[in-house]
Amino acid sequence: MYFVSTRNKNCRVSGAEAVVGGIAPDGGLYVPETFPTVSADERAMLVGMDYPQRAAFIISKYLPELRDGLEQWCEKAYSRFDGDPAPVVKADGKYLLELWHGPTHAFKDMALTLLPYLLTGSKKALKRKDKTLILVATSGDTGKAALEGFRDVDGTACMVFYPESGVSGLQKLQMITQRGENVFVSAIKGNFDDAQTAVKKVFADSGFKDKLAQYGYNLSSANSINFGRLVPQIAYYFSAYADLTDCGEIEDGEKISFCVPTGNFGNILAAYYAYRMGLPIKHLICASNSNSVLTDFLASGSYDLHRPFHKTVSPSMDILISSNFERLIFETSGRNDALTAERMKSLCESGGYRIGAEEFAKINSLFKGYCASDEITKETIGEVFDESGYILDPHSAVAVYARGRYEKDFGESKVVTVCTASPYKFVPCVLESIGESVPADEKKALEKLEDETALPLPDSLKELPALEKRFTGSAEKDAVKDVISDYVSSHRTE
Ligand SMILES: *Cc1c(COP(=O)(O)O)cnc(C)c1O
Repeated sequence: MYFVSTRNKNCRVSGAEAVVGGIAPDGGLYVPETFPTVSADERAMLVGMDYPQRAAFIISKYLPELRDGLEQWCEKAYSRFDGDPAPVVKADGKYLLELWHGPTHAFKDMALTLLPYLLTGSKKALKRKDKTLILVATSGDTGKAALEGFRDVDGTACMVFYPESGVSGLQKLQMITQRGENVFVSAIKGNFDDAQTAVKKVFADSGFKDKLAQYGYNLSSANSINFGRLVPQIAYYFSAYADLTDCGEIEDGEKISFCVPTGNFGNILAAYYAYRMGLPIKHLICASNSNSVLTDFLASGSYDLHRPFHKTVSPSMDILISSNFERLIFETSGRNDALTAERMKSLCESGGYRIGAEEFAKINSLFKGYCASDEITKETIGEVFDESGYILDPHSAVAVYARGRYEKDFGESKVVTVCTASPYKFVPCVLESIGESVPADEKKALEKLEDETALPLPDSLKELPALEKRFTGSAEKDAVKDVISDYVSSHRTE
């Protein structure tokens, strides 16, 4: 299996190289040269497997060179979850795929508990001995999940940059109290797009990368631009389908839809990859908050950045430049690398691009877009809690609202709504949404949500307010390279 860059198909690498490199040298994203398929027989086989086996099976289709280690790695990664890593539950007769039972309580754990194994295994396959510097721009949840995943992993260091006032109080606390010898966290003065652009610039700077190499470091990414981050996410779509077949909710072969709360387009792109692999999918519903650039694209065929950036109650989706959208338009343009490169240039230089009618129709036949304001998001949390006792986090609530709108437009059908975070990561918003006051003390607020709902408060969050705050610095967005230089020069490899 080979991977090519979305911006130049002649740039062709193995899966191991794609995982270690993160992003292609031309700034493009690695995509599989062809999509492997999962047959009906294989789908039936998945039903009898547990989650780690299902994940290993799907991932080995893309990374066959890592096959020997995969089952054991998945076993280890998903043993860090509290029970089933990706259960489908029913609330009020609707299916919810809960992806937040991992160590940091957001869906990023689905991939980031496993990525260190994929990376270490890939380096071994390539006989690489240098240290890997994992560089992360985070809108809140990736940072913590990457820090936890790479904490004290041999041969790696992990540096995380988050927007100074763009993450929830608890998300920030999770990151700045991170333990481990090989981790570093800094705020960036700016929003998530600023942080992501600053980090992408570092990846594109070959002179800087040479400098890092002199210190014994090679750069890689734990953002969903890295294929190794994306591939574990494909597995849970197959797993949800297997679970629904297993309990007789659907017939094998029956088409279902997935509704995904979307920011950087990584989660829903993984659903699209599952579709391309043959999973019976009818529609993919792209749910956005008031940063509705994708909803607007799906209505107009124009990707337009000329708009204000909104800080919302679902901060992990406060994104205007959805990186993984590049992988989708690479496919829908007929894998036209030159055109993809041109569109990305236009996005960067003139703030947008428009696609043609035929391609637009193709995208629209599969993707449906809806967005929710903060007010609607909070109302949704309140309504669902009143009606079913189920407590949603704001990101998942955006998707539940979108599903409702979709059902109005297309009729009742079988839709699985993806839930991406524990409500405990966003306590003030959730308490307000169910009509409760918010205690100023963080620990009391967490305990109040536990009292009001039946959901047990995880120990790792309970102890958080008492931990030492290790990383309190904040950098200008132009200073990211300096911060990295300082870190590597003071952490030279022997
Ligand atoms: C990252 C994240 C999202 C958005 O996922 P993308 O893959 O970036 O589209 C949604 N909800 C939560 C809670 C997240 O952490």
